[in-house]
Amino acid sequence: MVGNGDKLEPAKEIWNRALGKLQIQVSKANYTTWLSNSQGLSCQDSIFVVSVPNIFVAEWLSKRLYPLVRKTLVDIMGKDVDVQFVVHNREQLSASPLAKQTDGGTSSKATQYRFNPRYTFDNFVVSDSNRLAYAAAVEVAENPGSSYNPLFIHSSTGQGKTHLLHAIGQLTTNNGLQAAYITGEQFANEFVLAVRANQVDKFRSKFRSIHILLFDDVHFLIDKKQTLQCFFHTFNELYSNNRQIVITTDRAPKDMHPLSSKLKSRLEGGLVVDIQPPDFETRLNILRAKAETTMTSELEGVLHIVAEKVCENVRQLEGALVYLTAQAKLSGTKITPETVNKLLTSTTRKQDIKLLLQVVADHFSLSAEELINKKRDRKTTLARHVAIYLMREGHNCSLTEIGKELGGRNHATILHGYEKMAGELSINPNLANQIAEIKEKINSQKGYSKAYQTI
Ligand code: ADP
Ligand code: MG
Repeated sequence: MVGNGDKLEPAKEIWNRALGKLQIQVSKANYTTWLSNSQGLSCQDSIFVVSVPNIFVAEWLSKRLYPLVRKTLVDIMGKDVDVQFVVHNREQLSASPLAKQTDGGTSSKATQYRFNPRYTFDNFVVSDSNRLAYAAAVEVAENPGSSYNPLFIHSSTGQGKTHLLHAIGQLTTNNGLQAAYITGEQFANEFVLAVRANQVDKFRSKFRSIHILLFDDVHFLIDKKQTLQCFFHTFNELYSNNRQIVITTDRAPKDMHPLSSKLKSRLEGGLVVDIQPPDFETRLNILRAKAETTMTSELEGVLHIVAEKVCENVRQLEGALVYLTAQAKLSGTKITPETVNKLLTSTTRKQDIKLLLQVVADHFSLSAEELINKKRDRKTTLARHVAIYLMREGHNCSLTEIGKELGGRNHATILHGYEKMAGELSINPNLANQIAEIKEKINSQKGYSKAYQTI
């Protein structure tokens, strides 16, 4: 008998055992089509979550195989469990913000969504920079379809858009309504699968029974003509049935260039609100709210420093807090205003170097691993030299430090790379342009460190 594993590993093992048993109970074709690409994700509160590659598999399994799967798991675990099939994607696997759960296959009820319990209206810190977005979100959650439809929220990353969507989802679900949350990326992926399976109608129909559609990061669809078209139809269908639609993007509707003017004017016909980056006072309030559970109040001075240093977005603010708390725990020391200065500088630096390597790799269509490992073709070598140059110029990294970041290369190799790049740059304007472009990308992606703006 296996205990109630609440970590990833036990769930994975339990599911592997279940797969072994299921394999001999279903036909080979069914096993290969529906089960072979599944994974045990977690088991908490007697809910066993299995990840599957797409919505069709999730639906098929919950309708057709739910009783058998459940019985198999109950036998293995020696206790009663419910089973949920969720569509596997990166976000769900890493932060598990959202799990899509089925009704267990016992009826044809519409799919239910589970929202991240951390993202509620109650723990959203309201300030001038987000007041309107917050108020509008509360309004549509309380009176969906009747006030602002669609509600369009835009902001740069990490300012609370997803948080608000989950909060709406939670409140409306508690009020007995069907709310669905989907990201632009999920929508695009599912659409592609639906096209392949010749099931576009079925894909669209899954939104029909929904009262509130929470559509996150729509900008992801911008360069996907067909998917946009499908989104437009879905939107129209819901809209004309008076269903509430809430959309988020990283830009204003007027900047969603490829959208048809019809859709644009529909979007603008509802309420368009933005969220601005938080000012110092708000950052401090957010930190105070988040610190209640992670830090003690005597650290008010520390929070001031964090709010001063980390100023781009709330996600980074949270990240800094988590980092400081972990450091305090690990080292067994108290976090003081003095140590916080030192610690935040070093995280910033670490994060910046990681970002730098990623941006350089992306620029040359490589992976960060390729930049680090032994590949020595011309493109990879050039990319590596660019990385060396930027690490030295932008972060004042020592040659040894750069060598370490680049998979343990020695000091002489790094020096050679640096000198080569510096020499090339003085005679090759194209390369200089590329470096400028990379720096710009880094700056646009990075949060609070401004190291590059000075080189
Ligand atoms: P976005 O979707 O705009 O990129 P998120 O909603 O993912 O941003 O927010 C990033 C993180 O910051 C989340 O953990 C969220 O809970 C938190 N956050 C953002 N704004 C606020 C706020 N006003 N109050 C409390 N937490 C916030
Ligand atoms: Mg988001």
